Amino acid sequence: MNRVKIIIAGPRGRMGSEAVNLVINTEHFELTAVIDYKFGGKLLNEVEGFKKIHNVPVYSNIEECLQTETADVLIDLTTPEVGMHHARTALSYNVRPVVGTTGFSKMELEELEYICREKGLGCIIAPNFALGAVLMMKFSQMAGKYFNDIEIIELHHDQKLDAPSGTAVKTAEMISAARSPKSQGHPNEKETISGARGAEFDGMHIHSVRLPGLVAHQEVLFGSDGQTLSIRHDSYNRASFMSGVKIAVDTVMKLDTFVYGLENILE
Ligand code: NAP
Repeated sequence: MNRVKIIIAGPRGRMGSEAVNLVINTEHFELTAVIDYKFGGKLLNEVEGFKKIHNVPVYSNIEECLQTETADVLIDLTTPEVGMHHARTALSYNVRPVVGTTGFSKMELEELEYICREKGLGCIIAPNFALGAVLMMKFSQMAGKYFNDIEIIELHHDQKLDAPSGTAVKTAEMISAARSPKSQGHPNEKETISGARGAEFDGMHIHSVRLPGLVAHQEVLFGSDGQTLSIRHDSYNRASFMSGVKIAVDTVMKLDTFVYGLENILE
């Protein structure tokens, strides 16, 4: 098997550092370079936490990185603004993006889809790399066909920048594709404190909880006459996301289209 040459953007982050471990510990993966705006010009082993990883250059921006290095895949685990710029630029250099960064707008996703179509290149944007979370979304979509009343509660650590989470939005989109349209709750319901009913998506409600101590969790509640159903997934650490990152990297090498959501590449 040919080695997959990989660039990681955001290597010091909680997700990025796990991705560095994944890449260096996977035989057919090769860590070509990393992008870190604070340590450009150094080698990765000069950056705190990576002393044992040799011969990996650090670039402060993606343009400089891709002008110098040849790579197959960019793994981006940064912030939404930077991640979008990275994905766009990677595609312009024929490098396939695997993006875990969340918070992209619908328009941004459409733009990336358009670029992939024009260039015939693969790209995977996955709001959640945890396989259990993908199953939680799929099961929720199945249940949404039979239960019209749904509340999504997503719970994350308090350093998360975007709300609702990409997973919650993706779950709502998937349920929406299966559920008969319905505006939930009492038609005359009134919030006495703004935001009490959460965000509204096609008549469903999404609630975002932010607390230190949490990692990434989601519960989807379904209600019907005399019964409720709860589907819950919990990620207790960031290693939970890495088997999905590995599958995404292997898959994106065979793709010539844009894929949004890991569930679309799992058999
Ligand atoms: P994090 O710990 O804050 O890491 C983000 C990293 O990006 C930081 O090290 C930050 O550096 C770095 N960064 C910012 N601007 C950069 C730039 N221009 N170039 C390179 N690096 C840059 O956050 P995290 O928890 O790892 O999450 C990262 C992203 O993944 C978020 O969007 C999060 O929502 C998402 N996420 C996705 C999944 C999934 O399964 N898809 C799971 C968890 C999280 P500084 O701190 O020095 O600014």
